[in-house]
Amino acid sequence: MKGSVRASLLESLPAATRAAVEALAAAAARRAFAVHMVGGPVRDHLLGRGVHDADLIVEDRIPGAALELARDALATAKITAHGRFGTVRIELAETRIDLATVRSEHYPHAGALPIVAAGDLEADLRRRDFSVNALAVPLTPAAGRGRPAVVDVCGGQGDLEKKVLRILHERSFHDDPTRALRAARLAARLGFSLSRGSRAALRDALRDGAFGRVSGDRLRRELEKLFEDASRGVDAALALRMLEEWHVLPALEPGLRLPRTAIAPLRRLGRWLAAPPWPAAKLRRLGAALAVWLAPLDAGLRLRTLERLSLRGELRDRIVAFPKLRDSAFRDLARARGRGAIDAALGRLGDEELLAVLAYAGPTPRRRIVRYAAEDRPRRIPVNGDDLLALGLSGPLVGKALARVRAGMLDGVVRSREDALVLAHELARRKPPRLRKGAPSP
Ligand code: ATP
Repeated sequence: MKGSVRASLLESLPAATRAAVEALAAAAARRAFAVHMVGGPVRDHLLGRGVHDADLIVEDRIPGAALELARDALATAKITAHGRFGTVRIELAETRIDLATVRSEHYPHAGALPIVAAGDLEADLRRRDFSVNALAVPLTPAAGRGRPAVVDVCGGQGDLEKKVLRILHERSFHDDPTRALRAARLAARLGFSLSRGSRAALRDALRDGAFGRVSGDRLRRELEKLFEDASRGVDAALALRMLEEWHVLPALEPGLRLPRTAIAPLRRLGRWLAAPPWPAAKLRRLGAALAVWLAPLDAGLRLRTLERLSLRGELRDRIVAFPKLRDSAFRDLARARGRGAIDAALGRLGDEELLAVLAYAGPTPRRRIVRYAAEDRPRRIPVNGDDLLALGLSGPLVGKALARVRAGMLDGVVRSREDALVLAHELARRKPPRLRKGAPSP
């Protein structure tokens, strides 16, 4: 039995990850180091879910042990050490492995980053967020000595069966309120709920104002992870609804909620983030998701929420302005006759804005938006600004003529470079005559 959890866990890994983990375990065994698989991969394996990335810890407190192991076992990998927590990230072509050194943590004050000290495996498991994440599977003989096949010091296996997320001590949310956001994300992903005791502890942390002490950057990073998960099929609207039910949203910003009218659009957006309906470049998921979530709220609350999340600059301004942009896009679309006019109506929107507009669109505009983004937007017109300058056009007329040629091409009137030049020529002939200096005005 003892070996079988280890063996089946390794078997469940994608081939490249498994090969890398086995190489690390072999190098660790040669040095009699204790190495364990911990956290998410163990939880997901015991639940029978797919495991992708590997999280490992080295129990030996030799400074630099993790780095030395990684370099020894996987010389060709990109290896990055993060000094503060003694963790090492190993990146191979198809896989990523985090290798940490056991540690314990304590929090100088609620919401602060933890102070890290050396610890043993059991202390490392006890510093974690939920019992189902406080599980380890020993991978090397030194790690397994005197221990069961699954090291479970907090009752995580029982909670996996009960499908509950349970914090490990009653001030856990005081120490790190972002755990509430992690709870909502995990609960939505796994179909779990927060245990009664943990709900009570969360209420206490809310009452004591713990959320007010967390930086906007940390909150934003957790929301980013939530919307990352949405692109892997997790229902972000469900997670946000839990945060609302737990009274966490108004603790982030007074009045913040999940408007009912945003739920269906958020779900649609989640599906499209997982499988974009057109070939999109790398999407800023957080931007698209915040635009959709916050659109029904009033502009002041939208701005305050984004400021609370320390979101600044152009992205913040675009999310604040999104509802106006969406409404004017719908108006222009309703008036647009032909593909050229649709292109003109949507041309100023980036991929994230288009997806966010799409999430609020009814069936007809939805078809038009997808056809525009997938088929028309990538098309290039057969003439450029220099061609038009050569025909005698100048100033703003060049831009106007390029737009006319583009609309003509999408409407099927301009089929070749010659057609485009003829159209431009006509526009050049129609251009108003320049007034001679000193001539009387008409
Ligand atoms: P995923 O499947 O999304 O990778 P994960 O559970 O592996 O989820 P990570 O964010 O990669 O989550 O974190 C790795 C482990 O570190 C978790 O399993 C958890 O035990 C621990 N952890 C992460 N964040 C916290 C936190 N804020 N407080 C306590 N433990 C944490």
